[in-house]
Amino acid sequence: MTTTPHPVRVRYAPSPTGDFHVGGARTALFNYLFARHHGGQFILRIEDTDQSRYNPEAMGWLVNGLRYLGLQWDEGYEVGGDYGPYVQTERLDIYQKYCQEIIGRGHAYTCFCSSERLEAVREEQAKNKLTQGYDRHCRHLNPAESAQRAAAGEPYVVRAKIPLEGEITFHDVIKGEITYQWVAIQDAVLMKSDGIPTYHFANVVDDHLMKISHIMRGDEWINSVPLHLFLYQAFDWQPPIMAHLPLILNPTGKGKMSKREDRAPDGKLMPVFVRTFQEMGYLTEAITNYLALLGWSYDDKTEIMSREELIERFSLERVKPSAAAWNYDKLDHFNGDYIRRLSVEDLTQRLVPFLNKAGVPATYETLLPITPLVQERMKTLTEATDFVDFFFMAELPDYDHSLLIPKKMEVATVRQILTQAQQILATTDFEPTALDTALRAAAESLSLKPGPMFQPIRVAVCGKMVAPPLFETLIIIGRETVMKRLGQAIAKLN
Ligand code: GLU
Repeated sequence: MTTTPHPVRVRYAPSPTGDFHVGGARTALFNYLFARHHGGQFILRIEDTDQSRYNPEAMGWLVNGLRYLGLQWDEGYEVGGDYGPYVQTERLDIYQKYCQEIIGRGHAYTCFCSSERLEAVREEQAKNKLTQGYDRHCRHLNPAESAQRAAAGEPYVVRAKIPLEGEITFHDVIKGEITYQWVAIQDAVLMKSDGIPTYHFANVVDDHLMKISHIMRGDEWINSVPLHLFLYQAFDWQPPIMAHLPLILNPTGKGKMSKREDRAPDGKLMPVFVRTFQEMGYLTEAITNYLALLGWSYDDKTEIMSREELIERFSLERVKPSAAAWNYDKLDHFNGDYIRRLSVEDLTQRLVPFLNKAGVPATYETLLPITPLVQERMKTLTEATDFVDFFFMAELPDYDHSLLIPKKMEVATVRQILTQAQQILATTDFEPTALDTALRAAAESLSLKPGPMFQPIRVAVCGKMVAPPLFETLIIIGRETVMKRLGQAIAKLN
């Protein structure tokens, strides 16, 4: 067990380059749970130094996504705090100051190599099958001379002066002890010629200045740790504790989870962006519970956990080092489970906007009696539309008359069923027991089982095969509409 430094201050530090991916959401969630568990701070810092990849829509997607997931940050973007600004392009003067300092300390140098020269070096290396990278051409320039050239306006970048030999070993809470040989590490660029720092430099300076205690981020950053630790050493700073979260694999378990939304071979959408899950009607409770188990477990068997339980139980010690594969079926199962746990009132409230968006004019009051009929069947909130739309239609859309005819049944029998149903439903009380008794008796008189007898009635009333339980449906739709729809169905058969 590692002891946890106090106060715990962790950050989620996305770059606004694209849509908010569930991989990022998992990172944000783990940071959030860790902060809440330790009574610490969860910080949102925007790493926007790569202006060429900046996407103006990304911030909206990010903020809405974090809100939907209920991951409210204590400090950072839009919220403010004592260590701001929290957007890196608003901190450029800070990085300049530290850049001068690291040059002064002799751990970084100015490099005047033109892009043409770098390109020529790359080509030469490729031709001779040598490791690619900067050949350290400017590393040995006289510092005074370099300063003069820079002052005279010659464009330059600033590079890290990585040791030429030896190794570095560090401890990652999740991965264990890791060693890198310095020869494998490049003299990376810290400051670009336009005065904007690279990710590495800004990230280290900010984590230090913002007093970050633990870095929890995706596995893909682990190769950056030697350079980052070099910077901490160069400044004489204490580095945060490192925890690199396991990779998320695609559902086949082979290869990383896609960065784009593809379709499965059966045509089903495979969402990867937070807002798509939101639009499809995954509950915050379900998706956060699901994400929490993507690389972490409480005891290898408990699956359904409330946010409070996740906060209470979360620990870095139980994050697995190995990759975790995404599983859409499991998420659907979680979502169905959470939907069934909601009160009818709560579910109704959540369903109304989804239905309205799909063009179904449901209101809280009109939907409330219908919700219990569909609550058991839904895996996502958007699915409700198909289960309930016919309750809200003056006229059913034109469905195919073959739907009315169960397999192996004569059209004449179907006609008999619907005519009988018309007679019975004209007079029977619209109340479950009365409907049950009367319709079962009718089935018997036609020598039919209730199943085949009810199917044409259901299709006539709902316009589709799959629908909520029949009697409750009839009652809610009401005698007048039921009679009209039965009549229309009979006409369709002719
Ligand atoms: N800006 C980096 C990203 O987009 C953050 C990596 C880190 O947390 O250090 O993932």
